[in-house]
Amino acid sequence: MAEFVMTVGGDTVPTAASFGVRNPATGEVFAQAPECSREQLDAAFEAAAKAARDWKHDESARRAVLTEMAEVLKRSVDVLAPVLTAEQGKPLNEAATEVIAAAVWCSYFATLDVPRQIIQDDERALVEVVRRPLGVVAAITPWNFPLTLAFWKIAPALLAGNTLVLKPSPFTPLSTLKVAELLRDVVPAGVVNVISGGDELGALMTSHPVPRKISFTGSVETGKKVAASAAPDLKRVTLELGGNDPAIVLDDAAPATVAKAIFAGAFANNGQVCSAIKRVYVPEALYDDVVDALAEEARAVRVGDGTEPDTKLGPINNEPQYERVKELVADALTHGARAVTGGKAMERPGYFFEPTILAGLSDGTRIVDEEQFGPALPVIAYRDLGDAVERANATHFGLSGSVWSADPERAATVAAELECGTAWVNTHLALSPMQPFGGFKWSGIGVENGPWGLAEFSEFQVLHQSRAPAR
Ligand code: NAD
Repeated sequence: MAEFVMTVGGDTVPTAASFGVRNPATGEVFAQAPECSREQLDAAFEAAAKAARDWKHDESARRAVLTEMAEVLKRSVDVLAPVLTAEQGKPLNEAATEVIAAAVWCSYFATLDVPRQIIQDDERALVEVVRRPLGVVAAITPWNFPLTLAFWKIAPALLAGNTLVLKPSPFTPLSTLKVAELLRDVVPAGVVNVISGGDELGALMTSHPVPRKISFTGSVETGKKVAASAAPDLKRVTLELGGNDPAIVLDDAAPATVAKAIFAGAFANNGQVCSAIKRVYVPEALYDDVVDALAEEARAVRVGDGTEPDTKLGPINNEPQYERVKELVADALTHGARAVTGGKAMERPGYFFEPTILAGLSDGTRIVDEEQFGPALPVIAYRDLGDAVERANATHFGLSGSVWSADPERAATVAAELECGTAWVNTHLALSPMQPFGGFKWSGIGVENGPWGLAEFSEFQVLHQSRAPAR
């Protein structure tokens, strides 16, 4: 693979050290990523601070840049998608979709209205509420959707008039490094800086004196560290953290139909989606039918290397996550669960795990209570709907959830009881740049996307002009 470089101040900065990036389909290191030094981190924040001085002044120029960014992304699918598949493991067509999604986010924010509200206009005063940029944003992303999640941050941050220093996950730094290189032609120097390194580089970013805002997507555990690190300097934070989304099937649902859709909502990206379905509650009367239909879906899906055209599910992205999924499934089996299909790692190189449906288990088992973030789904029987809703809510997580029924209105009434940022009816993972996305409880602070997500990249300012004559 080609060489990958950091972009700081619109240019390549050579690094003294690098680290290997593994292809999860083989487990082998296939490329090197630059290791950002402390001094280079300072230089990146300095470049972003310098660029922010001009960048904040011209909103129409910022919109034009976002529009051009979308064009560059659309033209670069063939360059970026193979890199993303190689480092992340997802099928090539899904990697291409991820690049296009990044373009869609740029286009959406290029035209999103930035409200300037007049709250008083009379003989005494003109009072307006306006938005001001925060300055420099430190952005940190995880390994499941490196590009999509980077652009959930880049696009609104830029429209709001901020500049960024962005660090992707050390498991998937390459597509983000490459995109920054491609964008140099259309983004002014210093506006988007992309650096790479390990977790310790993330910690240095969050405690650095320059950024005024941290936009973080990742695990609950790291999110808490980020919040603690931001506190002494009162940096603004948006935290998009883990989820343990419940799907509740109602007693009037058609098992085969809901199983198909629930399988898609649980196993998208091989289960490595923050808001994937991670536990399913099914009424006792439908339990066996739903479990069997889910197992049928799981048996039929083609697992393989993302570069093979008929692959639907790739490998788990990295070794620690692979070990974690193995551990959680083994723990469930030890505690009386039954693997209706799957249940173990696949005998081949790379981090492949059989698509797994677990039955005969309940809350109190680790794979039900914790976030598995992989291709294994526990299905739990319930007798009383109120009890199922209570169990669905009895968690520190609160990212999203869904309710499935032949009667959407009835389902919506149940969905309204879910304590989570997005409550779906007869669908799951329906996301768009217009919808605010975020979590209740430990699943996060703040939201991304839509005008609400944009607002989090700015401070409100009251501009109060007295109409009394100056003396
Ligand atoms: P992670 O928390 O281990 O790492 C995320 C990023 O934080 C990486 O870039 C990492 O290098 C960096 N990091 C690690 N330690 C840090 C520290 N002390 N300070 C600052 N940065 C640090 O998460 P992950 O394993 O990469 O991603 C999986 C998790 O992300 C899952 O829990 C998933 O649910 C969550 N996620 C949430 C959303 C959302 O929008 N809510 C989206 C995708 C993934």
